[in-house]
Amino acid sequence: MMTHLLERFPVGLFDVTLFEATARLGGKILTQRFDTIPAIYEAGVAELYDYSNIGLDPLKTLVQELGLKAIPMHGYAVVLGDEILRSEHDFRRRFGLPSFRALNEFHKTCTALCSSSDYYEGHVAVDRQHPWAHRTFREVLDKIPDENARRYIEAAVRSDTATEPHLTSALNGLKNVVMDDPRYMRLYSIEGGIEKVVEGIVDGLKQTEIVRESRLIAMGRAADGRYRLRVRNHDRTVTCDFDRVVLALPHNWLGQIDFEDVPLRLAMQKHLARYDHPAHYLRVTVVFERPFWRGKVGGSYFLSDAFGGCCVYDEGLRHACEPYGVLGWLLAGSTAATLCNLGDRELIACALDSLPKSLAAGRGLFKEGRVHRWINTISGLPGGWDVQELRDRHMPAPVSDPGLHLVGDYLFDCTINGVFDSAEYVSEAILSEWRQRAYNEAAEGATSALATPTAKAGPLGSDYFDFYDGESPYEDSFEEHFDETYTVDLIHTIFRYSPPYRLLDCGSANGLTLQRFARKDVEAWGIEYSPYIYARTPEPWRARNIYGDVRKLPFDDGFFDFVYETCLCYLPEADLDTAISELFRVCRVGVFFGSITTDMTKEVIEAYELFEGIQTFSTLWEWSERFVRNGFRIATSDLKVLQRAWKIEIKANNGDFAWYPDMESMRYCFYVKPDAPPPRADQGAVSLG
Ligand SMILES: Cc1cc2nc3c(=O)[nH]c(=O)nc-3n(C[C@H](O)[C@H](O)[C@H](O)COP(=O)(O)OP(=O)(O)OC[C@H]3O[C@@H](n4cnc5c(N)ncnc54)[C@H](O)[C@@H]3O)c2cc1C
Repeated sequence: MMTHLLERFPVGLFDVTLFEATARLGGKILTQRFDTIPAIYEAGVAELYDYSNIGLDPLKTLVQELGLKAIPMHGYAVVLGDEILRSEHDFRRRFGLPSFRALNEFHKTCTALCSSSDYYEGHVAVDRQHPWAHRTFREVLDKIPDENARRYIEAAVRSDTATEPHLTSALNGLKNVVMDDPRYMRLYSIEGGIEKVVEGIVDGLKQTEIVRESRLIAMGRAADGRYRLRVRNHDRTVTCDFDRVVLALPHNWLGQIDFEDVPLRLAMQKHLARYDHPAHYLRVTVVFERPFWRGKVGGSYFLSDAFGGCCVYDEGLRHACEPYGVLGWLLAGSTAATLCNLGDRELIACALDSLPKSLAAGRGLFKEGRVHRWINTISGLPGGWDVQELRDRHMPAPVSDPGLHLVGDYLFDCTINGVFDSAEYVSEAILSEWRQRAYNEAAEGATSALATPTAKAGPLGSDYFDFYDGESPYEDSFEEHFDETYTVDLIHTIFRYSPPYRLLDCGSANGLTLQRFARKDVEAWGIEYSPYIYARTPEPWRARNIYGDVRKLPFDDGFFDFVYETCLCYLPEADLDTAISELFRVCRVGVFFGSITTDMTKEVIEAYELFEGIQTFSTLWEWSERFVRNGFRIATSDLKVLQRAWKIEIKANNGDFAWYPDMESMRYCFYVKPDAPPPRADQGAVSLG
């Protein structure tokens, strides 16, 4: 996935070599064939998660781009002992109203404590402050006042957490409980096997050298400072040097590498200790002469309280195997770790023994059994007890080893979707850093385009404004580039507010925007830090265009409805929390974030020399982390709204370079306060056709 994402960058930017320890790519995505029947089954990863009903879903998009067919998966039944409960109504009939109420109450508590949008966004700041972040799952399960409800929930969730309730957080438990709610996500498989995703990715790789059967065993430094990797290939150890290394390995494999340099070894030890929450799976897959369970227990899978809680997949529903039937047991946690010491025959017998009485006759239909052991291969507490910010998670030693990134599912939620997110973050961070370095090197070589800052000219100097788009002064480029209709339309689309409202233009230069906004019935105010450009404010607008600092805004709390921000990137990173918390203080509804980001398109960055004067080089995703840390939330993930916003963006760029690479960028440009007042009733959503 990492190499797939890296290949989105322009050819020639870097050469990528991928080392894989084994002869096959795919790791725990493992689609296998039986010996006795011509059918396939999933021996590792069981399903993929679909978030497309909430917002953009990069994995689902990739699946579609690869031309693969998604097979929806559903499961409704839970087996408790010999009882098959086909739905929660069965549960009510069997255990009575008090148990049913306790079950519902627990689900309601979980959904109240984590909305589908918070679940989807998975923000560090939100997770950190969550009331269940520092309790164990055991503690909250034991508060369920009804034993039947508790047993049901424990059985249902165990195969997802893959660990014991006392070894994981209540927040992680909660997230695994809501996974079964289609408002949060849906499950799907891939026609022909989940491994098709890996094949599709590999087929598409054009610039990556793939070196199989080559296990990284040690990592140190060459004399020129580059990373020196020692790779074991059959009986040889090969040495190769690289400028940058991404270790896209799960926690268990990462621990097997020898980090030769002391600072990196110490940092990696710390990282590995922080994320050391081993969890286990064991898969037993059995072919039967026929699918004898159908009609008694339905769905693509059912949950069972056998083995302390396991999931049993009807493999034949996704990978055709008629007239046979295939059941796959996914055992989890310490049970899996303990039972893995048994031989295959005994494990298959245990699985067959676990069938409820009404299905026990199926044992006689046994045809073939397969066992796959996955001990210590995943995390029982992805993200750890104290969730780190994205950069800290992915860069274990930013000072001594800025050239090393980690990619791992254990840093997110221990799923394929999570590993994709992790890879996406790292690929963007690499591009960002590369662009910053290239810019700095070019700036060092050339005489600076910016005149030296003086007290009179402000931190950006005077040339910044005199050659605003590289050629003409601010006033001329303003006429060409500023469009108040664009801003007002986007605010309407995202926040559903239309004028009149009060807006702060943060980074307002000489206040020309104010009179343009006034044409739209927007009461705009400005704040500008450069005395040089501020001095050119026309007299009538001096009362509302204020000379000041975004880090200390001279306005009352909630004075503005919106902030239109274009200056944060010119501040040092250390000051950003202060500035964003000021924005949070003075606005009632939200912020339109318009600063320069390192993942804007190459064309626009180069054409307008956008990096001039920037002090904080960050991707949109990194900026979003800062906004959320300071109390904001991403304003919308709604696909339809984003599509409308993207349409406005494209229209505004008409005939010119696109500023942002894709629609997803729009998601990170707007932030709302969690307690923002709703728009007035007369302000319906704008229709843009
Ligand atoms: C039984 C089971 C069921 C699961 N079910 C699901 C599910 O339904 N849905 C879901 O989203 N996730 C599921 N997961 C989790 C999912 O498998 C992981 O999130 C995902 O595989 C992580 O991908 P990865 O590339 O980080 O690690 P892996 O898939 O483990 O791949 C790591 C690769 O690195 C190679 N390697 C290791 N060490 C070295 C080295 N030193 N040098 C070079 N190469 C090396 C390995 O050979 C392997 O190919 C399941 C996991 C298991 C075990």
